[in-house]
Amino acid sequence: MTNLMSNFRRATAVMLVTAGVAGIGTPSQATSRSTETRFAAGAAGSGDPYFPNAGNGGYDVLHYGLDLRYTPPSDPSVLAGKLSAAATITLRAEEELEALNFDLRGLAVTAVRVDGKDTGWTQTQDDANRVWEVTISPKPKLKAGREATIQIEYGGNTGRPVDTTGALYGWVTTADGAIVVNEPDGAATWYPVNDDPEDKATYTFAVTVPEGKTAVANGLPDGRPQTKDGWTTWSWEASDPMASYLSTAGIGNFALSYDEGPGGLPIINAIDADVAGQALTQTSASLALQPQMVAFLEDRFGRYPFEAFGATVDDDSVDYALETQTRPVYSGAASEGTVVHELGHQWFGNAVSPADWQDIWLNEGWATYIEWLWAEHRGTATAARQFTDAVTLLDANNRWALNIADPGRDNLFAGQVYLRGAAALYALRAKVGDDAFLEGAREWLDRFDGSSATTEHFQAVMEEASGQELGAFFNDWLREGDRPAMP
Ligand SMILES: [Zn+2]
Repeated sequence: MTNLMSNFRRATAVMLVTAGVAGIGTPSQATSRSTETRFAAGAAGSGDPYFPNAGNGGYDVLHYGLDLRYTPPSDPSVLAGKLSAAATITLRAEEELEALNFDLRGLAVTAVRVDGKDTGWTQTQDDANRVWEVTISPKPKLKAGREATIQIEYGGNTGRPVDTTGALYGWVTTADGAIVVNEPDGAATWYPVNDDPEDKATYTFAVTVPEGKTAVANGLPDGRPQTKDGWTTWSWEASDPMASYLSTAGIGNFALSYDEGPGGLPIINAIDADVAGQALTQTSASLALQPQMVAFLEDRFGRYPFEAFGATVDDDSVDYALETQTRPVYSGAASEGTVVHELGHQWFGNAVSPADWQDIWLNEGWATYIEWLWAEHRGTATAARQFTDAVTLLDANNRWALNIADPGRDNLFAGQVYLRGAAALYALRAKVGDDAFLEGAREWLDRFDGSSATTEHFQAVMEEASGQELGAFFNDWLREGDRPAMP
């Protein structure tokens, strides 16, 4: 069922005129008919088995320029804000396109231009079937290989969107601003997007907020904040390719602080002024370790993959932390284990992302395993002890029953994905040896840097590095319903 809301739908004069010219009986009829057979609409979904409607087909986004003007709630007891925005999206057509889609949820499009020219669109908002699409019909149609700039003006009220499990995500309105955490398909709650982790792009952000508020996005500041008429614009630039689920633009009463990692890596932290007491003591101690954590992981897995790092710590909570690229988001406080986990994701998950959401254990298994390595380095617990503890937890209540290489849409963040994933990596290291394990891990990061890959790709890289056939091993440790043989 598709619900086309009339106020979400407008045909521009330009589109009507063009349709008239192409009408039957015009001299160009034969030509336009042969053109019609070549051009087609791009797919409305990427075909991910868990989120088939997220993402779109027929084009590759190169860059998102997001210009956002945000009014936080005037009454902090009513968590509703207002967003007025323009997205400038540079893309390359991969097919002959007469139409193409973006994902956009809960916000209304008010104008579309393709290469500066007003263009028609339709918008679908079908919450029941999780179909949130903007369909654009460029004139002229886009030839395969052609680059185009799509400008979309849009806006509306913001609330507290939830994912398929009911967890807060996307643009989450808070009492003093917004927490923005998109995994897995929440990016569409704040900008028109090809929401597929396989289509990475660079980003620029210009976030305009009431004077006194701070807006923190991915990457590095692009100049100083500019204030005019009571509004301040914060500009950020993320010049490393990024999956849409890792984009962020948090808004609040943040204080910025600066540090430096190995090789002069800029570290920028944003801590909400209301984070205080024990939460602030813990957060400050954890964030002070970031340069050492980067050095520790660089020794094992190669150079830190991005231009910057840091943290956004909000007193408002979504009850989890997320590894948003270059600047993870923490709720309430940041513990040492969580900080090294989110840092580990910058290599495992962000530089190399899951091709499909069922490959999520490649993110969470690695980040959890990195927590074990860091704790061992700090002398709090050996990796062997943490492995044993994880196996004990998995033994209880038949938790081996979940196939973590295909856990199901609503089990992406089940405990097993983390614990069994980390245990599988620990067991793999025991099986192939330290040298082959670390060589394989580095090869994995080199080969798929800036892109996305699958569990099968990971197995192939580890087989090359070790010279061992690992099909049975990965089946036992990821997929089978019984406890595997211990290393
Ligand atoms: Zn994680």
